Formats: sequence, structure tokens, C-alpha cells
Amino acid sequence: MIIQLNTNCSPAEREQLDQLLKNNNIKMVEIQTQFNHYLVCVLNKEYDIRNIGNLPGVQDVHRVTDSYKLVSRQWKNISTSIDLGDGVVIQEGNFTLMAGPCSIESEEQVERIVNELVKNNVKIMRGGVFKPRSSPYSFRGLGIDGLKMFHAQCKSRGIKIVTEVMQVSQIEEMVDYVDIFQVGARNTQNFNLLDALGSVDVPVMIKRGISGTIDELLQSAEYIFSAGNEKLMLCERGIRTFENVYRNTFDINAIPILKEKSHLPVIADPSHGIGIRKHVDKIALASLAAGADGAIIEMHYEPERAFSDGQQNLNFEEFRELVQKINMLRELI
Ligand code: PEP
Ligand code: MN
Repeated sequence: MIIQLNTNCSPAEREQLDQLLKNNNIKMVEIQTQFNHYLVCVLNKEYDIRNIGNLPGVQDVHRVTDSYKLVSRQWKNISTSIDLGDGVVIQEGNFTLMAGPCSIESEEQVERIVNELVKNNVKIMRGGVFKPRSSPYSFRGLGIDGLKMFHAQCKSRGIKIVTEVMQVSQIEEMVDYVDIFQVGARNTQNFNLLDALGSVDVPVMIKRGISGTIDELLQSAEYIFSAGNEKLMLCERGIRTFENVYRNTFDINAIPILKEKSHLPVIADPSHGIGIRKHVDKIALASLAAGADGAIIEMHYEPERAFSDGQQNLNFEEFRELVQKINMLRELI
């Protein structure tokens, strides 16, 4: 059960509510987010929640049977939208594109890619400065100085930034330079990181774990929400299966299922999903058709020379074509 408190719930009203919960042996966890004050309770089925809904100080009460609560659509039918400022809003019906290289490499690289985004009316640039790499000898990112340069370039052109945070200690140094924190597939169940991202007022995009189930992704999102941050979106980026002809098995099914189970926006990552440059466009279009609220696409002017994931980066021409196809498909559906 989720109890939403009135913003002006008085101490006396609160006392009355706490007493009722106590008398009925209902355990609760108190949650304060940027927007709301909730009590999340684990309930036995018979309890009549109207007893609580009728109390003064209570705005609303909802029965939620899912194991995750606050991210569930069972209590919030209206899809969540995320306002990044300056007219950039991630919401159902917008199909927001985020694009850029796998890794931030240099000032010149950022400048050239920003120019291309502006030409294509894309408002969010991706690019990692802290890179999780399978081999410790691969390029691991430009770090915080790279992020500061990335931010300065993007800010002057009105472009927002999505970039990966890998550990708790990075949050504080990154927070002023980031518009969306990305939680990568290797960190989906790094619960300390998720808890810490709950206490910043910056949107978070959490990716599905490499071998993660849909339920685990939603539980991980619940960590962030319940730690106080409602500005959240989910990302399907493919999972590891027995198939090894392509990089990951992009789970197109996850998109309508996540949209059904949660009110949070769902972003597709076809680049990591299939990992093969010439097929990224098809998976991006399939994601749009499947109901995704946006896509994150890797692109580079010279994919062959990219410091990481070159095999799945679109070049500028391929990116332009994809943007056109997306616009056409959007009109159609
Ligand atoms: C990335 O976005 O470049 C990345 C490392 O993604 P993932 O966590 O999905 O592997
Ligand atoms: Mn990548």
C-alpha cells in the first residue's frame, strides 16, 4: 500500500495515522521525494484501505500488489514525464533522441558531434567519461576534466548531457555538469549507488542489467525512487543469452511490458542492444513501434576510429537517415 500525505499534513493528523497503522500492525517506510511525501506499507490482503483514505492529512491511498511499489503503474496511471529544462521534456509521445559517442575523446570530437546534433534538432548528447570496460587496458574515459569540457561545450549550444556514473564518490564531483545520470548495465544492482542517486535532484536513467530480469530492473528503479528521486527513466539495452552472433539480445518485448508495469519513461538503447552498426537503425525503429519513449544512439564522425564501441557507432550520414526514418515512422503511428 502507498499512502500519499498532504503537503500540509499536521503533526496531529500524522499522529492519528501512525496510531492507526500501529494498531493494525502495519509496518511502513517513510519516503520524501522532490515532489511528494509517501508512506509505503506492506499489507495483508484483507485490510480495508478506506480506513486510511478517509483520514485527514491523507491525500490518497493505493493498494499495490507488485513487489516494487512507487515505480508501479498500479497506483499511478499517468505516465511520468521528465523536464530537463529549456523545453526539453522526456515524455510519452515525444520519442526523445539522445545521441553521441560511446566515450568522450577530445574537445574537437565533442564540438563536431554537437554541431551534428544541432543540425538534426537533437537536444541530448550522450558520452561516457567514466567507462566500464571489460579489459583494464582499454580506454577508460577522460574522467572529470573530460566531463567539464563536455559540459562547457554542450551548455553553450543548448544541449543536455547524459553520462554514466560508476560509483558513489563520483556523484558529488559530477552533479553540476550532468543533466541525466546514467546507471550502466554493470551497476544496475549496485544498491549503494542507487541509494546515493536517490538523494540528488538530477534525473537518472537506469539500464537493465547484463543478465537482469525485468523485475530486477524495476526493483532497482524502486531503490532510487524510494531514496527520494522521482526523476527516473528505464533503459532496455539488451541482455546476455546463449546467442552470440550479435552483442546482446535486445529484448523488444521488455518495452511494452515495462510500459505496462511502470509509469516511468522507457528508453531503448539499440546500439548496445544489437551492437552491429548496420542494424542499429532497424532496432531503433522497432523500439519506437513497440512504444518506447525515446532512444539513446551511439554515433561518431569516424566510427572506425572511435576509442570505444566503434563497431556499433553510426556515422553522421547513417545518423541523419535514422532521424529521418524516425520522423516518418512517428507520423505513421
Ligand atoms: C554505454 O552506454 O556506453 C555503456 C557502457 O552501456 P551499458 O552499461 O549498457 O553496457
Ligand atoms: Mn558504448
